[in-house]
Amino acid sequence: MFSDLKGKKILITGSTAGIGLAAAKAFAAQGAHVGINGRQPSSAIGAVLSEFDGLAGDVMYFAADLNQSAECKKLVDEFVAHFGGMDVLVNNAGGLGGRDGLENIDDAFYDRVMDLNARSALMMTKYSIPLLRESAAQSGETSCVISTGSIAAREGGGVGAGIYAASKAWLHDIHRNWVKEFTKDNIRFNIVSPGTIDTAFHEDKPSELKANIANSIPMKRFGTGNELAPSFMFFASHACSGYITGQILDVNGGQMCP
Ligand code: NAD
Repeated sequence: MFSDLKGKKILITGSTAGIGLAAAKAFAAQGAHVGINGRQPSSAIGAVLSEFDGLAGDVMYFAADLNQSAECKKLVDEFVAHFGGMDVLVNNAGGLGGRDGLENIDDAFYDRVMDLNARSALMMTKYSIPLLRESAAQSGETSCVISTGSIAAREGGGVGAGIYAASKAWLHDIHRNWVKEFTKDNIRFNIVSPGTIDTAFHEDKPSELKANIANSIPMKRFGTGNELAPSFMFFASHACSGYITGQILDVNGGQMCP
């Protein structure tokens, strides 16, 4: 079904664990050339890379802290130097960045959360656009940007996570703007919007709270990274979604039905 992903050059930010790693492995299993990214030095990433052993595609790790725009540019430059172009960008790096009430929030807190979830995706997309434009021109098909949004963007997030939720709503919305600017270049923009997924994102929560959250989900459990991966593949595949852009796909076990 996803056979046109074979040989595609796909960069996934924030992909040393969780949802990003599951997506990266799924793309590699289809024979794609996959760039993974995190903040850790390359020397610390051996176990992650070994998870790609035996998969049809190839993988390369690129260390970059995407809170900084210069690092976004460096990541794109290094990816292209290695793979020779880019067909798909997945803006997945993100996270809560801290949890605190409005009255305690200061500029440093605001900047940290917005830089990680909004500015990083903005700058990654900015530096990738020329490559994605070139990819589409050469293939005669579409190239694309996929960003990881959040259920929080739709419902406001938990108490203390307001800036995180707003940063994801910002991401959902700026995709709509990019559709207007870049559809002429045959670049598509879509969002995969997870509900509550069992990753390190929730490691600070006590098990009783996790059980309560699971119980509030119609499917009565958290989702997994592997259950997210096919949605990224669907949007990355021109054969599957070449006429789909500006959309948000919610993968949330029925937690919210917008
Ligand atoms: P995770 O903590 O397992 O993975 C986060 C990844 O991002 C890691 O690879 C980490 O190294 C990387 N990362 C963090 N900060 C970075 C930075 N400054 N520069 C580069 N890489 C960085 O979490 P996850 O749950 O897999 O989260 C992935 C995405 O999914 C995030 O954007 C998150 O907001 C979103 N999301 C997660 C959930 C959930 O329930 N897990 C729900 C909605 C949205």
